[in-house]
Amino acid sequence: MALLELDDVSVHYGRIQAIHDMSIHVEEGEIVSLIGANGAGKTTTMRAVAGLLGLSGGSITFDGDDISRTKAHLRVVRGISLTPEGRGIFPSMTVLENLDMGAYARKDKSSMSADFDRVFDLFPRLKERQKQSGGTMSGGEQQMLAIGRALMAHPKLLLLDEPSMGLAPQFIRQIFRIIKEVNQQGTTVLLVEQNANQALKLANRAYILETGRITREGSGAELAADDSVKAAYLGG
Ligand code: ATP
Repeated sequence: MALLELDDVSVHYGRIQAIHDMSIHVEEGEIVSLIGANGAGKTTTMRAVAGLLGLSGGSITFDGDDISRTKAHLRVVRGISLTPEGRGIFPSMTVLENLDMGAYARKDKSSMSADFDRVFDLFPRLKERQKQSGGTMSGGEQQMLAIGRALMAHPKLLLLDEPSMGLAPQFIRQIFRIIKEVNQQGTTVLLVEQNANQALKLANRAYILETGRITREGSGAELAADDSVKAAYLGG
């Protein structure tokens, strides 16, 4: 049984259909990447999985239950945590306060200090800057904070929407290394990226999304070696 399964999912914005009959699955322990150009529907997919957008067709199953109509905050409680595009940290709050906000939905507060430790082990920079306000940190540090905040909910499934966007190359490498580490620690990852090169390298499996439709599926290595994928997404 897949941890996450989208079955014939459609999403509309008013009369515009952004996602067409999408079927994808993410197995427990995997990193799955969803690759697509600007406007392909990557963010829409993530928001639908997180419960921030309703479906106009199809269903979403998580951990064996149909969550298609489950409210967003209850999906967090069930174990789905989103790091949104553009990070969405609280700029006037400190690093520590931002991380605390990520833990709001958890029932088990007793293991919270272990999660603080985990986040600070993954991101020593955040530990050094606990008292600094989020908005004064660099783009890369804010991305780390956004991922750290999502991890404070102790998710089974981490949704990452373009974590490398707008970052300098050294931060991009670091973010991808950390995603791998988070996954090795037992968190399943669904990653949306325009940076197809890195995202395919990292992924167990990947899907190509074009104008709201899945057009290809395969292992990361398979798709990275494919000529048409190379031409469209890997700079030829
Ligand atoms: P990007 O990388 O630019 O964020 P994306 O792959 O995440 O692209 P989406 O943001 O999911 O793409 O957008 C998918 C389609 O839905 C696009 O055609 C977009 O114009 C449209 N769309 C997105 N948000 C809205 C909205 N609030 N109202 C109407 N149309 C929207």
